[in-house]
Amino acid sequence: SPGLYIVATPIGNLGDLSPRAADILSRADAIAVEDSRVTAKLMHHIGARRPMLPYHDHNADRVRPGLIERMAHEAVALVSDAGTPLISDPGFKLVRDARAAGHVVVTIPGPCAAIAALTLAGLPTDRFFFLGFLPPKEKARAEAIAEVAAIRATLILYESGPRLGATLAALAAGLGEREAGVAREISKAYEECVTGTLETLAARYAEAGPKGEIVIVVGPPGEVKPADLDADTLLAEALTRLPAA
Ligand code: SAM
Repeated sequence: SPGLYIVATPIGNLGDLSPRAADILSRADAIAVEDSRVTAKLMHHIGARRPMLPYHDHNADRVRPGLIERMAHEAVALVSDAGTPLISDPGFKLVRDARAAGHVVVTIPGPCAAIAALTLAGLPTDRFFFLGFLPPKEKARAEAIAEVAAIRATLILYESGPRLGATLAALAAGLGEREAGVAREISKAYEECVTGTLETLAARYAEAGPKGEIVIVVGPPGEVKPADLDADTLLAEALTRLPAA
């Protein structure tokens, strides 16, 4: 039925495309795509051909009104090149405008590199903060890191191979000693997740960044300093250290 269908697609292994995602993609009236060559491969995999409409950072503002109009009488699917649309990918304004127009909005959940990396790294998962890509320029990057340094949560960042070493060094400088993980090529043949402190990882990748797609996961700030504790906690702790009467 008419509306907007947000469809998550594999981040590597095509087997991760859900049957529901395949069903929606093969029946949609049109598919809004980032890169039609990338989505064409996926469509070939499921043996379906549907009209594809480019929707990316450079044409989004121009083509969005037309897509919103279509949704009144057509089922329009939205995909990105890999993973979940809207997550460091286009789509937020399309969803916002579809809602404003009163259209049905449905999500078909699936792979997301950030969440996949979080499950691999062995770092706390109860609270996490997604940063997407840091700014490439040194000063802006350091500022973005300083802004999140005090957050008591695991941090998740996207990065590319060539920039990995510089980004890890900037994280080590701005966040201090923290456990971290570098997840690479998730769900592909050479999937790996290397863990260590930010400093050891920065040293490891200083020379040459590895090939492929990368997610950096950084554990929360370490030990709670006494200054951060309230009096009751301090007292209780002190009492445990008293010699038994
Ligand atoms: N929307 C996507 C998602 O749900 O994960 C992310 C799109 S963003 C433009 C692309 C970035 O995601 C890459 O630069 C990399 O940081 C990360 N990524 C995508 N696929 C990955 C994979 N198989 N392994 C590790 N990181 C991946």
